[in-house]
Amino acid sequence: MKKKNISIIGAGLVGSLLSIYLSKRGYQVHVFERRADMRKQVVEAGRSINLALSDRGIKALKEVGIADEVIKIAIPMEGRHIHNPDGSHAFQPYGKEGQSIHSVSRSELNAKLLDLAEAHDVQFSFQLKCNSIDWKKNQVIFEDDQNKTIETAFDLLFGADGAYSSARLAHMMSHNTFEYHQYYIDCGYKEISIPAGANGQFLLEKNALHIWPRKEYMLIALPNLDGSFTGTLFFPFEGELSFEKLTTESAVKRFFNETFPDVVPLVPDMDQQFFHNPIASLVTVKCFPWIRADQFCLLGDAAHAIVPFFGQGMNAGFEDCSVLDGLIGEHGEDWISILRNFQELRKPDADAIADLAINNFIEMRAKTADPRFLLQKKIEARIHERHPDKWIPAYAQVTFSPGIRYSEALKNSMKQEAIMQEVMRIPEIEKHWDSPNVEAQVLQRLEQDKSLL
Ligand SMILES: Cc1cc2nc3c(=O)[nH]c(=O)nc-3n(C[C@H](O)[C@H](O)[C@H](O)COP(=O)(O)OP(=O)(O)OC[C@H]3O[C@@H](n4cnc5c(N)ncnc54)[C@H](O)[C@@H]3O)c2cc1C
Repeated sequence: MKKKNISIIGAGLVGSLLSIYLSKRGYQVHVFERRADMRKQVVEAGRSINLALSDRGIKALKEVGIADEVIKIAIPMEGRHIHNPDGSHAFQPYGKEGQSIHSVSRSELNAKLLDLAEAHDVQFSFQLKCNSIDWKKNQVIFEDDQNKTIETAFDLLFGADGAYSSARLAHMMSHNTFEYHQYYIDCGYKEISIPAGANGQFLLEKNALHIWPRKEYMLIALPNLDGSFTGTLFFPFEGELSFEKLTTESAVKRFFNETFPDVVPLVPDMDQQFFHNPIASLVTVKCFPWIRADQFCLLGDAAHAIVPFFGQGMNAGFEDCSVLDGLIGEHGEDWISILRNFQELRKPDADAIADLAINNFIEMRAKTADPRFLLQKKIEARIHERHPDKWIPAYAQVTFSPGIRYSEALKNSMKQEAIMQEVMRIPEIEKHWDSPNVEAQVLQRLEQDKSLL
C-alpha cells in the first residue's frame, strides 16, 4: 500500500518530534511553521525559556535516539528548594536518590529536534501561518510573511500548533458535535531572569527547582547552563495583591522586599524586567474528538493544553508521539485504526494530567511550606521505601513512572489521599509517624483496596 504524504502544522517541540518518528517509519513529512526558523534568527521567545523534562519525555527522546544529547544540555534538579518567608530554606527531594527532573532550554531542545528531523529528510517551511483547512479538497490554506495565500494538499494532517491551535479551530468550525472547554486560572505569570554571578557562578543551589511559596501565589526558578536562573512569578491578575496593583516602581520594590527579600539582591534590574516582561495567562484546553477519519489528528497542546504546575505539558506531548508510534507499529497503514485508538487511549490520560496539574498548583504555592503536608509526604516516602511495590507517591507516578498512565496515576492518587487523610487524623501523628502501627494501618487499608497499585 502506498504510504500517505504527511503534513504537520507547527514546528514546536511536539510537531518536530512527531516528524522524526514519522520519517523513521518511512513517511514523507512536511512541517509548516508560522514563525521564522529559530536556528537562523532570534524569534520571539513565546513562553517559558526553560522547561522541566522528565521520564515520559525522556522515554520518547530515547526512542528517536536523542535523549543522551539532550541530557547533556540539561541540568538535573533533584528536588524542590523551598524559600520560606522568614528566610529559612528546606530541600525536599522529588524521589529516591538518583531520581531527578531536568531543566532544559526550550529553544535549544527545539533546535536539536529540528536538526535531527532535517537529518531524517523532513521538509520544513517557515513563516507560513495556517489560516484555514478545506476538508473536502484536503488542503491547508496558509498565509506567508508577505500576506500571500498558499494552498497545500495533504493525505494526512497533524495539528501540532499549540494551545491556540488554528488547526483545531478549522476542525471545530466544520464539526457538528465538537466539544470544547477552555478555562483560565486567576493567576498569570511573568518571567524574571536571575543572572549568573561572576564567572558564570550559580547564585542559588544549582541542582534544584526553587520555590518561594506564598499561599495565593509563588515564585519559582529553574537553572540554566550559563549560571542564570529563569524565575517565574505566578500571581493573581486582579485583587488586593495582584499584577493590576503593581504599577509603580515603588510598589514593585516594596512587594519584592517584603515578599521575596532573598531574591532582591540577586536581580539588580528587577524594575526594568518587571515592567518590560509581559504578563501571560495559563489556559487549560479539553476538546473532543481529536481526529477526522484517517485524515486528521490533533496532538500536543493543540489537543490538550494544561497549566505548567506538574511540568508535564511537553512531556505529555512527547508521550503522545510515542503512543502514536506504537500504534503505527501495531496497525501498519490502517490509519483509521491508528487514529481511533490514539484518541481513545490518550483522551482520558490528557484529561487526568490536566486535573493533576491544576491540583499541583495548590500544592506548590500553599502546601510545600505547610508542616502537616510535609509530614504527610514524609510518611508516604517511608511507606514507599519499605513497600515500593505497594505505594508509589503521586508525584513519582506522574514524573518517574512512564509505565503508569496519567489516568491511573490520578485514580491512585485520589485513593492514596483518602488513606493519608485518615492517617493524618491519628492523634499526635507527628510523634508516631514512623511507628509500626501507622504502617500497619496503611497496609491494612491497601489490602482492603487491592486495586491500588
Ligand atoms: C510557563 C510555562 C511553563 C512550562 N513548563 C513546562 C515544563 O516545565 N515541563 C513541560 O513538560 N511542559 C511545560 N510547559 C508546557 C509546554 O510548554 C507545552 O506543553 C509544549 O510547548 C507543547 O508543545 P507543542 O509543540 O504542542 O506546542 P507549542 O510549543 O506551542 O508549539 C506550537 C508551534 O506551532 C506554531 N504555530 C502556532 N500557530 C500556527 C499556525 N496557525 N500555523 C503554523 N504554525 C503555527 C507555533 O509557532 C509553535 O512553533 C510550560 C508551559 C508554560 C506556559
